[in-house]
Amino acid sequence: MRLTLFVLCACTALLFAVRAQAAAPERVEKTEEEWRAILTPEQFEITRKKGTELAFTGAYWDHHEKGVYACVCCGAHLFSSEAKYDSGSGWPSYWAMIDGAPLAEKRDVSFGMIRTEVLCARCDAHLGHLFTDGPPPTGLRYCINSAALTFIPAE
Ligand SMILES: [Zn+2]
Repeated sequence: MRLTLFVLCACTALLFAVRAQAAAPERVEKTEEEWRAILTPEQFEITRKKGTELAFTGAYWDHHEKGVYACVCCGAHLFSSEAKYDSGSGWPSYWAMIDGAPLAEKRDVSFGMIRTEVLCARCDAHLGHLFTDGPPPTGLRYCINSAALTFIPAE
């Protein structure tokens, strides 16, 4: 009985350790100059300066291949083509992030609007905004700049 309890406790502790690790993604930190050196001017402006690309101009708003969309700055896997849908907004839109993706949300009151900014929690890249007018099953709309993403086709 005691042994069972011990094993149970050990397993629980291990589970928590693994979960804690998953919740705290390995950080990627670079100076502004280092980011500028590895990103295109547009990628830099959007991800590091919170810019927004013009609607219907990015590489992925009308992109329908199967695969994963990763952070253009640090490569973290963020969105799956499975959750991508045509929102009509002109920006890549997803109704969910990948399970456990390092996404952070922040209140954004710029331009006289109250919005939820979406950032990569691993490298602090600005990705886009999160709205609650998305389709089922979540009702969420992650409205993301193409320039903040890089596409990895499914094998
Ligand atoms: Zn990132």
